[in-house]
Order: sequence, then C-alpha cells, then structure tokens
Amino acid sequence: MLSPGSQLSRFQTPVIITVLMLLVVSCIATVSQTTQELGPFPPPKTEPPIVTPGARPGDPPSDAIVLFDGKDLSAWKSLKDGGEAKWEVKDGAMVVARGTGDVVTKQEFGDCQLHIEWATPAEVKGEGQGRGNSGVFLMGHYEVQVLDSYNNTTYFHGQAGAVYKQHAPLVNASRKPGEWQTYDIIFSKPEFDEQGKVTKRARVTVLHNGVLIQNNVEIYGETWHDRPALYIPIGTKGPLKLQDHGNPVRYRNIWVRPL
Ligand code: MG
Repeated sequence: MLSPGSQLSRFQTPVIITVLMLLVVSCIATVSQTTQELGPFPPPKTEPPIVTPGARPGDPPSDAIVLFDGKDLSAWKSLKDGGEAKWEVKDGAMVVARGTGDVVTKQEFGDCQLHIEWATPAEVKGEGQGRGNSGVFLMGHYEVQVLDSYNNTTYFHGQAGAVYKQHAPLVNASRKPGEWQTYDIIFSKPEFDEQGKVTKRARVTVLHNGVLIQNNVEIYGETWHDRPALYIPIGTKGPLKLQDHGNPVRYRNIWVRPL
C-alpha cells in the first residue's frame, strides 16, 4: 500500500502502468462495440419499395423496363439514320443484320441494372475479333464486349466480357457458340464539370452467366479500338447501344432498371 509521501517501488510502477493501459483498451473496446450496436444513424426514414421478382432467374422484375421481349424492335431505332431498327427478329431473338449498323434504344439511361442475353453463331466462322463480335455499349459509349470467346484467342481486354481495350474479364465464363449466355450489368454513369472535364469516372460490374467477371471497375473513357481511352463529355443519360460488327449475333430478354 502507498502511504502519503511514500515512493513507488521499482516493481509497483510497471504494474500500475499495465493496469492503466488495460483500462484504456477496455474502454475503447466498449465504446466501439456500443457504436457498432447502434448501427447507422440516423436510420432510413423511407421503406424500400416493393418489387416483385421475375418468376425465374433472369426474368424481368416488376419495376424493369423491358427493351426486348422476343416480339418486336419497337424500343429500338437505327443509330445511322434514327429510323426503324433494321435488325431481324427471328425465333424470339433480335439478330444483327450485317451492314445495317448499330441499334440504340429510344429511351435513355444513366445509372442502371441491365440484363441481356446473347448468343454467337452456332456455325463458327472467322477467328479472334472476327468471330461472333458484337457489343453492349452503356450510354452508347462504353462497350462491354460480346464475342465468341470459346476456344478463340484474342487480346485479353478484347474477349467476351471485357470493358473493351480497358479491362480483361476476371475469368472466361463463356458457353459454346450458339448457346444462350447472360450478362447482368450494374453501371454507374460518369460525371463532368461545366468545362466538360470528368469529375467522376463511370464504373461497371458484370456477371457473365452468373459469374463475376468485372468487379466495380473504373471505365477510363471511350472504349475505342485504335486510340487510348479518353472521356468526352456526354449528358446524364444515354441510350443502350448494340453493335453491328458484321456477325449475326442474337439477343433476347433485354431489360433494364434505372437506379
Ligand atoms: Mg465488339
């Protein structure tokens, strides 16, 4: 015991310091635990809206905008002349009609969740970028590559699921030519200041046949094939664009949920 005026022994001092440190650590632990238990503050005031999911995986949920349901191209137009989309509708699919050019949706989107199904030709023709090439362009500018990447080598950031010439897919989850495949895409639009300089790059997450292949990657700008990526300022919304790369790629069950 310490009495007034007494001095701490050389053994007592380290013991007291250790006890004090333990007390501090336990206080910090208690405070952080309490914070965790309280959770986010303030709590959200609005209840999440009710959405009825599709009957089967891949079916559009109740709040989706259906862009193609196998029947007609009424949601689409030609990029070339703004007139009717000239792709073929056959057996519930819309098929790239070589030379008619890209098609774009009449409606425009910014941040969104997109579901799209595609199939490259069952009859394999060509190689590399010439085999089953098309593309899904978010806001009409940023391409997620569509390609027959089943036993078909090409540059890695040009194969199926690549953010074209920017990010190779994490894995190659391709099905065989002719088989239906899915992309589920979550996209965040880029933002620009008044001078047109990008202040926030776009981001994209892609699941290919249910497999994560792009994990919230930054898009560096336009996905050109012959120039380094660069942002050119665009508006807050843009159409979804599908590419005519000369190969009869098929699409079906296309729907989008603006976020
Ligand atoms: Mg392409």
